[in-house]
Amino acid sequence: MDFIILAQTFDKLEGITSRIQLTNVLVELFKKTPSDVIDKVIYLMQGRLWPEWSGLPELGVGEKFLVKAASIAVRVSESEVERLYKQLGDLGKTVEQLRQRSVAGGLTHFIRSTSKHDVRLSVERVYETLSKVASMVGEGSRDIKIKLIAGLLVDSEPIEAKYLIRLIEGRLRLGVGDATILDALAICYAGSQNYRGFVERAYNIRADLGSIAKILASGGSESLKVIKPKVGVPIRPMLAERLSDPKEILDKVGGKALVEFKYDGERAQIHKDNGNVQIFSRRLENITHQYPDIVEVLPSSLKCSEAIVEGEIVAVDPSTNELRAFQELMHRKRKHDIHEVIKEFPVRLYLFDILYVDGEDLTTAPIAIRKEYLQKVVVQGDAVRLADFIITNDAGQLENFFLKAIESGCEGVVVKALHDQAIYQAGARGWLWIKYKRDYKSEMIDTVDLVVVGAFHGKGRRGGKYGTLLMAAYDPDTDTFKTVCKVGSGFTDEDLEGMSSLLQPYIIQHRHPRVDSELEPDIWVVPALVAEVIGAELTLSPLHTCGKGKVKEGVGISIRFPRFLRWRGEKRAEDATTVDELVEMYKGQLRRIVETAQEPT
Ligand code: ATP
Repeated sequence: MDFIILAQTFDKLEGITSRIQLTNVLVELFKKTPSDVIDKVIYLMQGRLWPEWSGLPELGVGEKFLVKAASIAVRVSESEVERLYKQLGDLGKTVEQLRQRSVAGGLTHFIRSTSKHDVRLSVERVYETLSKVASMVGEGSRDIKIKLIAGLLVDSEPIEAKYLIRLIEGRLRLGVGDATILDALAICYAGSQNYRGFVERAYNIRADLGSIAKILASGGSESLKVIKPKVGVPIRPMLAERLSDPKEILDKVGGKALVEFKYDGERAQIHKDNGNVQIFSRRLENITHQYPDIVEVLPSSLKCSEAIVEGEIVAVDPSTNELRAFQELMHRKRKHDIHEVIKEFPVRLYLFDILYVDGEDLTTAPIAIRKEYLQKVVVQGDAVRLADFIITNDAGQLENFFLKAIESGCEGVVVKALHDQAIYQAGARGWLWIKYKRDYKSEMIDTVDLVVVGAFHGKGRRGGKYGTLLMAAYDPDTDTFKTVCKVGSGFTDEDLEGMSSLLQPYIIQHRHPRVDSELEPDIWVVPALVAEVIGAELTLSPLHTCGKGKVKEGVGISIRFPRFLRWRGEKRAEDATTVDELVEMYKGQLRRIVETAQEPT
């Protein structure tokens, strides 16, 4: 497949801000894509070479390398490339212009005729070359990388050169989310949006868009209906809704429920393939290297050949054996001396679910069956335990168990529906699981995780820096981000100093197509950075689009006196607090105010 088709599509996508149009352009592209390269086309479109969780090296070659490669390819000096780059502020555009000049000057023919390769760039060649570039390490790799990149640029059309540079820099930002790709795949290969559910289900249980597309493109629309989880490919996690009243929670899950401790640690999806163990985080990153102690004991803690199980890894105090705060796990992110760190900061894995065992897909089995399997398979020890739970239909018992959980160092409980339809809803936040957290009980509202979608220049002491961020909640129904508040307090001087370089890679020229905002910040950014925010209370606001019209006609939900607490690097934009959760929190706040007012003094 010619790479120019991809480059021209990228160019079209860049100018589009409507999701329907984005989908249409993708459908056209997929129609032109042979089934054996569809996976590569999808990865490249997402600015990568393989799924993020694979743990394989990513692209992201430094500017200096690219300037050198471009200067070799277009036969101008490095300082000339740099001069034009300074003028244009965009290396992709710079190399595109230089290629245009060399094409106009007839240089292309001269250079190409000396090139060994077929002069038209193919997607396959670009992919293979970039894979080599990404994987190469060690001495001497620098020069080979530059040569490989220059080799591609020499054979590229100007527009191809522009997107090659952006890909290699790791700065291809097309605004195409997973949801849009799923829409386009359903329309292209099954002829209609009606098939979307099957494509999505397949993606939820095998979070690899490239391979899902390939199965669909080569096996047709029936092929995805029978897809099962695969050990080594993460399953998108099932998520919980939240409520704050035990009786309401029990009603919502159908009366009887499994009530389980909500451990305050890091969610872990564990894949066992005989002696080989991999651990994936909540956002599907490969975090195996952070927990060598868990990896070591797992093969003997699971009595089966292959399995996918889920649990929470929690820091424990070795002297008291008590659970420790979530923050203690941060030490595990250190790369160099992990074997020292594991002694100082020991952890324990509390398993709460099993999704696959020895060829059997358990995601469609009700929770009672899954729990039976889990109990059969797990051999408990000091480092691996089963999560604590009770089964009840009594609100008082639920409340007591909740208090016990808090006392034991947990965040609260997760209440899980027990009926026959209570399957594992991969990739969905639904009412089969409801979290009941301590924070609802206090005067302060719970913290929320919001996504940065824009920023405002600071004034006074903060002149020349970004002083305030425009924050949004996620709306899964429309796959958009809706603004909630502007956050300007809670940042340390260090946070503020680093803000420009933190935002820099995400800055875009226009509002991102998935952002719904009535405010116009000084700069727009791609929704990617998630921050934990707290405030005095939730308020109604005509300025913000979050939950607009859901509580009161024409107004949305906002936060009064919002304060930045910390970055939530482990969360993706789509993992932010949802619009519906904020609406629910607002209603909960109203209820609490009424209850307090009614209490006898
Ligand atoms: P939060 O920030 O409140 O943990 P979240 O968005 O990360 O929320 P939710 O699905 O809303 O995730 O809440 C459930 C989370 O609680 C899981 O992601 C998991 O990490 C954690 N957890 C702890 N114990 C359990 C349990 N017994 N069952 C399910 N999830 C649990």
